[in-house]
Amino acid sequence: MKKHRMLIGGEWVEAASGEWFESMNPYTAQPWALIPRGGKTDADRAVSAAKRAFYNSQWHHLTASARGALLRRLADLLADEAAALAELETTDNGKLISEMRAQLHYAPKWFHYFAGLADKIEGRVLPTDKPGFFNFTREEPLGVVAALTPWNSPLLLAAWKLAPALAAGNTVVLKPSEHSSVSALAFGELFEKAGFPPGVVNIITGFGNEVGEPLITHRDVAKIAFTGGDKTGQAVYEQAARGIKRVTLELGGKSANIVFDDADLDQAVNGVVSGIFAATGQTCIAGSRALIHRPVYDAFVDRLIALARSARMGNPLELSTQVGPITTQPQYRKVLEYMDVAKGEGAVCLLGGGPATRPECGTGWFVEPTIFAGVKSGMRIANEEVFGPLLALIPFDDEEEAIHIANSTIYGLAAGAWTRSIKRALTISERLEAGTVWINCYRVTSYMTPFGGFKRSGLGREGGMEAIREYLQTKSVWIDIEGNTPNPFGLR
Ligand code: NAD
Repeated sequence: MKKHRMLIGGEWVEAASGEWFESMNPYTAQPWALIPRGGKTDADRAVSAAKRAFYNSQWHHLTASARGALLRRLADLLADEAAALAELETTDNGKLISEMRAQLHYAPKWFHYFAGLADKIEGRVLPTDKPGFFNFTREEPLGVVAALTPWNSPLLLAAWKLAPALAAGNTVVLKPSEHSSVSALAFGELFEKAGFPPGVVNIITGFGNEVGEPLITHRDVAKIAFTGGDKTGQAVYEQAARGIKRVTLELGGKSANIVFDDADLDQAVNGVVSGIFAATGQTCIAGSRALIHRPVYDAFVDRLIALARSARMGNPLELSTQVGPITTQPQYRKVLEYMDVAKGEGAVCLLGGGPATRPECGTGWFVEPTIFAGVKSGMRIANEEVFGPLLALIPFDDEEEAIHIANSTIYGLAAGAWTRSIKRALTISERLEAGTVWINCYRVTSYMTPFGGFKRSGLGREGGMEAIREYLQTKSVWIDIEGNTPNPFGLR
């Protein structure tokens, strides 16, 4: 097994503890890589390196265009390595190679887009009510950014943070998930090749409580960019409040995918199935509640089951596989528990409902694509994020009821609606409480578009022009151009 090292101040180092932990391959349920078990000393070293790099003239005085050029070189190197990095991610987190390749081929676009914005960060000259004064604003970087990512889309979600943070002139300490650190460490090698000064990007590994917490509580961290579960997000937010740090929180969801009776049902079936079963349901935007208009309920559910039943499970490294394993053993147990809870609460299992024991699933952590009907509003599977291939079916009678059910959870990350009516599309896109609404599509995102949550799904936006502002602070500068500073003791 390869023993990996962390990147601190341009050096590849072991954890100060000298310890490693095993990263598991979810398809074989066997360890396949050894990851440094970082702790407080490593977090301190990484933040110091990032702070030094922030003030180092090689970075601090680099022109904004030169910063953009570095990001473009990084994007090109990332594109060259996309296939190899995708294979590392699939081995580490068990998501399909087809999906990880698509993500890795797309990730460089984040760096290109924000590279383009690097030299378009502008202040303003302001009118003033004080004659003889000149007043303008500067948009400045924050300093050291701590970026924390979950296990499901390791490098794509790192790109969402690093690209705007670096374009704005910050330095970064990245802490990937303990369940999928390998691709981030491989990505680290590209920063030196691209010509980034040492310490501008540091990558430390380990567990949330051991290395993540000392990182986010470090006094020299100015901003925390976090993607993960909402309970962890709350803890991160509380810590950030203690240090008056800025935060971006991209948290969980319980997204509704609403099918109206005027929808193109062929399209809707595809959208609902991919909304929940892609990535084995392990996406924040999973459409885990299908709200179905009663006139088409029976016909739609039959088609849904037929399509979901046809999914090929197996080795995620094979292109023909359509549903892979669950990434971690605790998560595998949690998904199975939710299936039992749903049955206990009276939901009716129409498909799946337990572990997948098909021969092609080997020893991996597989669960069957699962569909529950008879889901009532108080049930846990109607309200809680499962993060697995479990779909809750809920019928509705009219638009008003659909909106009410869709908005009834504590989350507000995304929602989908399937309809041929433009009027309904516009009305519902306004009334759904979600950071992203998809009409007649699902799971579409872009580097050009803001992404983030309403309600408990998060704070701030990643992607688009909004994202770079999350990594900047405004300074007002006053200049007395007439030299009329009065004697303070002469003032009445
Ligand atoms: P998680 O919250 O367990 O961990 C996320 C990261 O935080 C990891 O790197 C972890 O080590 C770190 N961490 C954990 N405890 C910490 C602490 N006390 N202090 C500092 N860091 C700590 O999330 P996960 O299980 O890896 O990922 C699944 C969750 O991520 C789901 O809830 C999913 O919805 C969410 N997610 C959200 C988005 C989005 O963009 N909104 C995208 C993907 C995943």
